[in-house]
Amino acid sequence: MRIFILSLIYRIKNILGYNSKNISETIIRLNNEKILKKHFNFEYKNILILLPHCVQNAQCPIRITFKPENCVNCGKCNIGELLKYTKSKDITLKIATGGTLARKIIKENRPNAIVAIACHRDLMEGIIEIRNMPVLGVLNIIGKNGPCVSTSFEVDKVIEYVEFFHLS
Ligand code: SF4
Repeated sequence: MRIFILSLIYRIKNILGYNSKNISETIIRLNNEKILKKHFNFEYKNILILLPHCVQNAQCPIRITFKPENCVNCGKCNIGELLKYTKSKDITLKIATGGTLARKIIKENRPNAIVAIACHRDLMEGIIEIRNMPVLGVLNIIGKNGPCVSTSFEVDKVIEYVEFFHLS
């Protein structure tokens, strides 16, 4: 209920003069707290990790959007490290270039649960939109290149959330 009210406030934030980043951060935190109080026992293969394209190093010449396994784990972004983990557990890792592709990926893969990495706005909108399965959100980290370019994320946090969905 609190998330619903906050999402309404987010929509009229300009009228109220509220800071949208604070609202989205609160929605993401409340959602995660709510999910983390529950218990799950999903198979690894039914847990989907959804990454935004901007976490790939902008200089990387390898096309990984539709085939993340093309990554050669050069160490210049977090994708290689996370892929090592997902391959070892048979977890589905997908990269979405936007909301439309993210929706398509979810529809095609029909996961039991999602660990989503994204910026404030995209993550909050995804959490509000996806109502039929649990989603844990991890905010991506904006580096010296600014938003949407060569961002990073806490790999350990993503793994922690996947393990939580697997057995909690
Ligand atoms: S780890 Fe290296 S090879 Fe893999 S996507 Fe990142 S920059 Fe490209």
